[in-house]
Amino acid sequence: MQNLTVSYSYGLIAVSIMLAILAAYAAFGIADRMRRVPGRLNQLKWLIGGASAMGFGVWSMHYMGMLAAKLPVPVFYYVPTVIWSLVLAMAASAVALLVASTGSPDWRHFTGGGLLMGSGIAGMHYMGMAAMRTSAMHHYSPDIVALSIALAVALSTAALWMISLVQENEAGGGQYRVIAGVLMGLGIASMHYVSMAGVRFHTDAMPFSLQNTIKVSLLGETGVAVTALLVLLKALVSAATDKRMYRKLQIAHDQLAASQAALLQSQTELREVNALLSELSIRDGLTGLYNRRHFDSYLNLEWRRVPRVKKPMALLLLDVDHFKQLNDHYGHQYGDDCLRDIARILETQPRRASDLAARFGGEEFAVLLPGCDLEGGLEVAERIRVAIMETGGEHYSNPEKRMTVSIGVTCYLPATDDSPERMIGRADQAMYKAKGAGRNCVIGIAGEAALLKI
Ligand code: GH3
Ligand code: MG
Ligand code: MG
Repeated sequence: MQNLTVSYSYGLIAVSIMLAILAAYAAFGIADRMRRVPGRLNQLKWLIGGASAMGFGVWSMHYMGMLAAKLPVPVFYYVPTVIWSLVLAMAASAVALLVASTGSPDWRHFTGGGLLMGSGIAGMHYMGMAAMRTSAMHHYSPDIVALSIALAVALSTAALWMISLVQENEAGGGQYRVIAGVLMGLGIASMHYVSMAGVRFHTDAMPFSLQNTIKVSLLGETGVAVTALLVLLKALVSAATDKRMYRKLQIAHDQLAASQAALLQSQTELREVNALLSELSIRDGLTGLYNRRHFDSYLNLEWRRVPRVKKPMALLLLDVDHFKQLNDHYGHQYGDDCLRDIARILETQPRRASDLAARFGGEEFAVLLPGCDLEGGLEVAERIRVAIMETGGEHYSNPEKRMTVSIGVTCYLPATDDSPERMIGRADQAMYKAKGAGRNCVIGIAGEAALLKI
């Protein structure tokens, strides 16, 4: 048995290392795509394409490395094992892609991934070595084998950790991805070359079969390496193109979302403006009470409901006493303030949700009390009269020096009331009777004959 010296072609070693780095770098670009593309099927397509490209790169790196080591005897490779080594390289690459595409910064994730990837690279390498058919025997040094595997695992782990940083720090991710590619590529290459440094070849007289074997030639390996290079470049370009397209799509999507949000916003504003406008259209500008228009439509509505609900309905008409004199004496502005004071009292005095107070015109107000009979209406009217006298404005025209109101009250009379106007007319009549009765009082009319004074 005679030891065989192995000589190395450094040029081929350099090319093989570059190939490993490029394969890893391309894989991380693909992992990035996998993380972003929507849909499991798309991700699977990238995984298959990426794992094939990277696996093919790792595998051809190994055989280029073997070609770089020149033995003084012819070397053949057993094809089925060579193919299995390619499958293993692709499987290990798939693991790396899956781990890198999750973007999880959890250390258990990338150490687990590094362990699988490192073992996969090592498995691929030793399977490739086992495929050798030659008249030389080779022996491994266990320490070096362990070191080569440890290196592959450590560098793969470091590369996957680096990739998890890219995803955390997306803005400056480019250089992290390059470093990760270099680390992983060096992991693949160092596994190979450290292991090779520990191998001892010596002559062996044992005959070997050449069946299903192939000889790796410089021409053949160059072809494989160029193919691998092209496949990897294609993977890189596809990833970059897809990234650009995805970005454009993302921008278009963001723009669409922004214009949808703006549309929604303007719709909401429009709704708010519309609501405000319709609210304003039913309000009186001076007092903020409902206006005559709204009062009329509310009265019509309740008018139609009365026969159905079979409940009475009372109506109050208020008129400020000697308001002209008040205006003339204290000024128009003061008169306005007094009208506003009356409005605040009318907003709080009728207490049911269905009650509605409105400015009927000038210094006249109307209060509709659905579900309330004449007696109830008189009670509410009296409360209002007293509240206005006690808390409303000042007026010189009476001994108490208080502003007062006269209130006419009536209720819906099914026998005679054929229209709301009829009821309003009766309330008006009652109000004028209150004026005639000396003002600052409440008069109710229940029918043509009945007259009630408070
Ligand atoms: P009476 O006791 O008989 O009701 O006497 P009056 O002075 O209140 O009667 P009249 O209906 O003649 O006067 C109503 C006055 O109300 C006339 C008008 O100047 C005043 N007026 C009407 N609308 C407003 C308003 O918006 N603000 C102010 N300050 N005064 C108003
Ligand atoms: Mg009047
Ligand atoms: Mg008046």
